[in-house]
Amino acid sequence: MQRQFNLEQNEMPQEWYNIAADLGEVPPPLHPGTQQPCGPEDLAPIFPMAIIEQEVSTDRWIKIPQEVQDKLALYRPTPLYRATELEKALKTPAKIYYKYEGASPAGSHKLNTAIAQAYYNKIEGTKRIATETGAGQWGSALSMACNFFGLGCTVYMVRCSYDQKPYRKSLMHVYGAEVFPSPSAQTQFGQKMLLEDPNCPGSLGIAISEALEDTVTHTGVKYSLGSVLNHVILHQSVIGLEAKKQMKKAGVYPDIIIGCVGGGSNFGGLVMPFMADKIAGKNLRAIAVEPSACPTLTEGEYKYDFGDTAQMTPLLKMYTLGANFIPPSIHAGGLRYHGMAPLISLLVKKGLSEAMALDQLEVFESAVLFAQTEGILPAPESAHAICAAIREANIAKEEGREKVILFNLSGHGFLDLGAYDSYLEEKLMSTAGK
Ligand SMILES: *Cc1c(COP(=O)(O)O)cnc(C)c1O
Repeated sequence: MQRQFNLEQNEMPQEWYNIAADLGEVPPPLHPGTQQPCGPEDLAPIFPMAIIEQEVSTDRWIKIPQEVQDKLALYRPTPLYRATELEKALKTPAKIYYKYEGASPAGSHKLNTAIAQAYYNKIEGTKRIATETGAGQWGSALSMACNFFGLGCTVYMVRCSYDQKPYRKSLMHVYGAEVFPSPSAQTQFGQKMLLEDPNCPGSLGIAISEALEDTVTHTGVKYSLGSVLNHVILHQSVIGLEAKKQMKKAGVYPDIIIGCVGGGSNFGGLVMPFMADKIAGKNLRAIAVEPSACPTLTEGEYKYDFGDTAQMTPLLKMYTLGANFIPPSIHAGGLRYHGMAPLISLLVKKGLSEAMALDQLEVFESAVLFAQTEGILPAPESAHAICAAIREANIAKEEGREKVILFNLSGHGFLDLGAYDSYLEEKLMSTAGK
């Protein structure tokens, strides 16, 4: 059975696909003071102009600059595998395929947008980028990309992940970034949070507030977000554009597409190019998988809310658990965000995508089965997608139907071995009902 469906280097996408062109009206971000739609001048202090234009663009295709393509070519196209060994272990008639974004040198899909964002900052004269990171994948990816383009990089890393994943910090240091556990004493907002609770585990919302404060209080500094926003999902469309060609080589079209969701970017990256077909009438299910400890899509409210805890960001129309929500310190740190990308929220609201919340114990069980059959050690975040794919494969078995399942393996878990230790030593807790 053929396992690998590879593309040539010259089959890499040269344009990003923008779902906003096919989704109809996308609710705009609102200014926190006036409650009016944000204009470019509202965002100019924090983002380069090219990124602001992409954020509001409704052009279906946007050219990928050659310099960005050259850096993406360090690791793209990424592989698409058929999970033959997992299928055998499950004894399922389903055909399971996965796109492997862990093949990037940063270990996840995040480098796809980090490269693009660092490039636009470079050509517009930015000296340093400030950002937040949860589990550390975004911080590592942005550190690497800033280094490629000669920019400084400051990373506010959610404290519980900083403590759980010290090697992520080491990796960021190799690429020349400075890293602070958040809440930190570096910013006024961080100092305030530490005063309230010296043991605060942190959250992405807090870390975003710190990175934004750093940005607006220094010159030559811009801010960068690794997920949630429209331009990030645009940059991640390379995943789905490649996967579409690769599935064609495999001679199949997916019945079900699955991705884990933190802010929504790896799911959006894989799903959006297929979603264009669904909007045009094709039969296709999309499933966004979140942890039951941070059930944004399944239990959150669809409304305008802030992206950060200090309430400095524009208001985004999204599913949210509330900007003050601090999720428990689960091991899939990259999925601990109170909100969800407005584009993904809209898909779910319109019924174009389903959402599912999973307990971390079932997720780790799936991750270990995947590692033992397919060989790759998945990131705990990605394991949510694996777990949902296994559930769907088991349903296909009960129904005796041959279904084609495609999921995004958004990253590898080599820097998450502490979490695997905890699971194997039975120290991980069920997150159901949290
Ligand atoms: C950051 C991350 C996620 C979650 O972020 P999204 O924007 O929802 O993709 C998932 N998987 C991995 C490996 C990550 O690094």
